[in-house]
Amino acid sequence: LPIEFLTARPILQTIENAGYEAYFVGGSVRDTILNDEIHDVDIATSAYPSEVKALFPRTVDTGIKHGTVMILSGSNQYEVTTFRTESGYQDFRRPDKVTFVRSLTEDLKRRDFTVNALALKEDGTVVDLFNGLQDLQDHILRAVGKPEERFHEDALRMMRAIRFASKLDFAIEATTETAIKHHAELLEKIAVERILVEFEKMMMGQNPVKGIHYFIDTGLYAYCPQLQGQSKALSELLNLHPDVRLINETQVWLLLCRSLKLSAVKSHSFLKAWKTSNELIAAVNNGLKLFEAIDQGTVSEKILFQTGKTVLTDAMAVLNAISAPVNTSELLARYEALPIKDSHELRLNGWDLLQRRITTPGPKLGKILAKLLNDVLTGKVKNSKSELLLEAKRIASKN
Ligand code: ATP
Ligand code: MG
Repeated sequence: LPIEFLTARPILQTIENAGYEAYFVGGSVRDTILNDEIHDVDIATSAYPSEVKALFPRTVDTGIKHGTVMILSGSNQYEVTTFRTESGYQDFRRPDKVTFVRSLTEDLKRRDFTVNALALKEDGTVVDLFNGLQDLQDHILRAVGKPEERFHEDALRMMRAIRFASKLDFAIEATTETAIKHHAELLEKIAVERILVEFEKMMMGQNPVKGIHYFIDTGLYAYCPQLQGQSKALSELLNLHPDVRLINETQVWLLLCRSLKLSAVKSHSFLKAWKTSNELIAAVNNGLKLFEAIDQGTVSEKILFQTGKTVLTDAMAVLNAISAPVNTSELLARYEALPIKDSHELRLNGWDLLQRRITTPGPKLGKILAKLLNDVLTGKVKNSKSELLLEAKRIASKN
């Protein structure tokens, strides 16, 4: 067992010693068997939340309504969730009410895919009710139970299927895939925020091309914000370099906007429709402006400066991913060579200009500072106070 499980083992033992059942479940079990890195260890138990809390001195009610209690143990924290069923699905969404049960079988039955429905006992034995181990070996994603019913219950599972197809580089089993095709339009019932999470994870998976292939082929894309009618533009993503790994949201959305040929201006309403954060909208806007400059063949020092290192790095990663004929290392080198990376580094500020009566408060002040910044960026003026003062006086006298 990997170290994460070994350190969590006493938690399971404490629960079991009190007469309940407890298992490791979900992604960590799957990823361990695949020999992949694991993130968080999830624990499922027959004990009810109040019973769990009674067993441990330090707990937090993170999701008590859904049966989840967080146990703090040393510097570690574990989510312990009571076995539950999710009967009474309405409107093709996951119900907000759950029923706690004492049976592991019931809990595993409600899980989405066979490879996600494995449970691992503290002694290392695996509970595999749906042949998940075989599917893991065969690299297959198969819905637990009848796929049509499962996607009808919770339409988000269809997006989860393509997410895991990319994340794990697995194929979607044929009847599961057919059921997605039949139910794709149910995705409209799902909150955009939840679709966003799965979509981003799909794009950041180990085989995004596979995920995108299913995304297009099943028709799911047509029920995502502003993607209807865009299968052709999306298909370009199938040509992504096979080794590509997108490592953050900025890269995901820059790439998507680029494929959809969205301008910086137009990307705003597109990303709003996807309900991404304002921070992300700003970063993508920045990156697309840089792309526009690159397309026009006019990448100034100023635009490199305005793009900034973080977005520049992401933008270059995207250009490399689509094998764009752009010398990305040259652009990065030009950025590194900029004499300053932040306007605060300018050795002269507005206060200096006012104090020396070079100008008065107002738009002219801003113009002079902008000109000084550009002069420093292009190497016309050295970033020293005396030289900047001389230059400021010259600019002020000209206007
Ligand atoms: P990751 O490593 O990417 O977090 P994961 O398998 O842990 O993968 P989660 O979204 O964290 O994925 O979900 C944890 C587990 O809960 C899943 O493995 C699955 O068993 C179950 N699960 C989550 N969402 C659903 C759902 N919509 N329908 C059914 N089961 C689900
Ligand atoms: Mg998880």
